[in-house]
Amino acid sequence: MDKKQAFSLWYVLAALVGLILMQEFVAPRHTQTLTYSEFKQALMAGKLDDVLIADGVATGKLRTDGLEQILPKDKLEALKRTGGEHGFATVLVNDPGLVAQLDAAKVRYGSVRESKWLGALISWVAPALVFFGIWWFLMKRMGSGMGGMGHGILEIGKSKAKVYMQTETGVTFKDVAGIDEAREELMEVVEFLKNPDRFRRLGGKIPKGVLIVGAPGTGKTLLAKAVAGEAGVPFLSLSGSEFVEMFVGVGAARVRDLFEQAAAKAPCIVFIDEIDALGKARGVGLSGGHEEHEQTLNQLLAEMDGFDTNRGVIILAATNRPEVLDPALLRPGRFDRHVAIDRPDLIGRRQILEVHVKNVKLAPSVDLAVLAARTPGFAGADLANLVNEATLRAAKHDKDAVDMQDFEEALDRIVAGLEKKNRVMNPTERKFVAYHEAGHALVAEFRKNTDRVTKVSIIPRGIAALGYTQQSPTEDRYLMRRSELLDRLDVLLAGRVAEQLVFEDVSTGAENDLQRATDMARHMVTHYGMSEALGLATYDARPTPLYLNGPMLPEPRTFSERTAEAIDGEVRRLLDEARERVTRTLQANRGTLESLAALLLEKEVVDRTMLDGLMASAAAPAEPRVAAVPVQP
Ligand code: ADP
Ligand code: ZN
Repeated sequence: MDKKQAFSLWYVLAALVGLILMQEFVAPRHTQTLTYSEFKQALMAGKLDDVLIADGVATGKLRTDGLEQILPKDKLEALKRTGGEHGFATVLVNDPGLVAQLDAAKVRYGSVRESKWLGALISWVAPALVFFGIWWFLMKRMGSGMGGMGHGILEIGKSKAKVYMQTETGVTFKDVAGIDEAREELMEVVEFLKNPDRFRRLGGKIPKGVLIVGAPGTGKTLLAKAVAGEAGVPFLSLSGSEFVEMFVGVGAARVRDLFEQAAAKAPCIVFIDEIDALGKARGVGLSGGHEEHEQTLNQLLAEMDGFDTNRGVIILAATNRPEVLDPALLRPGRFDRHVAIDRPDLIGRRQILEVHVKNVKLAPSVDLAVLAARTPGFAGADLANLVNEATLRAAKHDKDAVDMQDFEEALDRIVAGLEKKNRVMNPTERKFVAYHEAGHALVAEFRKNTDRVTKVSIIPRGIAALGYTQQSPTEDRYLMRRSELLDRLDVLLAGRVAEQLVFEDVSTGAENDLQRATDMARHMVTHYGMSEALGLATYDARPTPLYLNGPMLPEPRTFSERTAEAIDGEVRRLLDEARERVTRTLQANRGTLESLAALLLEKEVVDRTMLDGLMASAAAPAEPRVAAVPVQP
């Protein structure tokens, strides 16, 4: 880009120099300026020929012989020195008889329009060029000042310069550790890029777009590069924020251009980092540049629709805020496949450390397992940073190898930094989270009408969730029975109840659980007719937007103040009763709760098999999987 611009500036300069030189050359070499009277006399004497009259100036050829009477001595001397034929130029006076005299002298004469071109060029085009050059220069500087990466206004619609292209990423799956699930999911993409024909013949359906979701530094970019590297295709990348410009239509032009480039490079991987910057839901937010943003997003949607996967272009996008994305982006045929990357667990962290110490000389004292255990909440990038810091420290102290002390110090530094950014939990927090999640998981195990727990984790996910208990439904559901809803309420409240039981204190970690539980209870009362006290009527209390960008029209409440109070009372009763039930269950199984929490603290992630083992070894649960819900009177 810079090269190109410098090149163009040179053009302008060269043109100017060229003009000046041309002026020198085009004008006859030995031109003698004649006064009008000298011109007239020479004409009468028949010494002139090929007279051109333009712009009040006569030019032409002058024969030097016999000019002694006409020209003063110095002019003649000058002419004679150069010899041969000479040019002359004379500024004309207003002389209506001139043409007749030219005729009489039988001189070839005329007036030439082209004679203006040089003058025009110099007086008009050249200044224009100069101004143009200055304007361009200023715009270029302005453009780079405005956050662009040094692009000029003329190229604003081109994403060429901003697209970062690597024909060979040099990254393979070997460089990506600890996120095996995500890697597995992207294998298929690699398979397709490597072997598109086989895939097509078998009727395989290739995703157009894959959305990689994960916290910063978890290896989203790395994974995308590895896909390109494994498949041996070019990797085109740019960041969503680079589409966002202040001029309407520019972002859209960039999108178009990006896809053109991708088509030319196919098969290839296009990676859009921070897609949330350009894919924010339309119609939310009141910021300016709204229209521009919509245009850009619409263009992206249109390009993705018009794109034929068979050409071998696959679009990977990364975000850590999938919830703000426009739903249209996630529809089938666009980013319909999602790959989640969590922060790595204990084993994952160890594997990532192993990748990064490959080229580092380690002292025997270094134990990667210990380091992995001491870095809960670290993302891949943090671990890479840890190795790097330790290596730097060892180098500073002139050591032959990096030892554990270097790691310890680097670790302290990094942890302090991450704590400031709220990204690692202290031990007390971890314990809270472990019991909280163990509570969710156990109650889900003990209730009959709940989905199976597939995974319990105390690895922070995203910004809000500090841990999670994953349940997967065994079948598609179209309706839910009251008993199921009550069991779900129990599971939702179990985290908070476990905290209360164990620590006799509670944390803010249950906010989301409580919100969901309250919503569910309220829905049971106001929508599903599941409360005896309020009967079968439904109560539309609060209009809830259908979509993120749906209309939020305030509607008048359709029920009385007394009913509102009754609803609140019923919601509260449902929640209180659920808490009672959960407390009983957890109290009766306190031992199992303790062992699950301990297991979580040790392993960070407990999967189904481990959970099965734990449940089997637990003393026969006091409340086996029976409906713990008393039938409502
Ligand atoms: P993201 O795109 O998710 O913000 P990156 O892919 O840019 O994160 O990761 C930054 C760096 O951290 C990588 O270049 C790599 O060195 C290291 N890293 C992150 N995740 C991993 C991983 N799973 N395995 C190995 N290295 C990783
Ligand atoms: Zn919870």
